[in-house]
Amino acid sequence: MPNYSVTALVIHKTVLGESDLILTLFTKEEGKLSVVAKGARKPTSRFCGASELFTLSRQLLATGKSLDILNQSEILNTFTHLRFDLDRLARATYFCELLDRLTLERDPFNAEELFELTTAALSLLQSQEADPDIVTHAYELRLLSAQGYAPVLNHCVRCGNELVRGQAGFSPSLGGTLCAQDRYRAEDAVSLSADAVVILQTLAEAGTDEWLALKPTYKVANEIARALRWYIRTRADRELKSADFLDQLRANR
Ligand SMILES: [Zn+2]
Repeated sequence: MPNYSVTALVIHKTVLGESDLILTLFTKEEGKLSVVAKGARKPTSRFCGASELFTLSRQLLATGKSLDILNQSEILNTFTHLRFDLDRLARATYFCELLDRLTLERDPFNAEELFELTTAALSLLQSQEADPDIVTHAYELRLLSAQGYAPVLNHCVRCGNELVRGQAGFSPSLGGTLCAQDRYRAEDAVSLSADAVVILQTLAEAGTDEWLALKPTYKVANEIARALRWYIRTRADRELKSADFLDQLRANR
């Protein structure tokens, strides 16, 4: 049974039998993979900490018949501050679910890029300086782009014309922004103000320092959240449980 090691983020866990867990890991080396953590549900288990959602660890795995087996783990980062704040905890959980939904098992193609993107987003989410909405939307847009699902944000998806500054639309099914003339011609179009379009473009294209400085108003933040929520629902092909919960938190703010 050959062993191999990976740097892994836990993105999902499922109960297996009385005391085991199946962990879905996103690894820097192999992309997404599922492993069995034997005895991990026992309070005395050495895998207790390493099997928590969005814990980062170095893991030694053994090749198993169907699923590989976790043999040893060394925790690198537990992102502790995310766990004591309901809003940030919900967002970190959402990042994990989104990454899980948009990736396939054992696809090492851009594993390192996605791994770095996600751990950087969790670190930013943890830092008190970053606006959690901005970090969330930047992560969504960059993950979508890395997986070939980037929405069109620079021209009208219907007629191809450049967007003139002013009210625009966004159609999840057509895959991006609509000009003022076409914004009512797609059934699922939501409206976007000029400021929302500029922020979406900056989030998708600009360097970290530039987008971290963005401070959308409440109204603009809601427009962006709604557009991306519908777009991701369309691309992920189903509802994300953690996104529903984030919506509830947003509504209660
Ligand atoms: Zn158009």
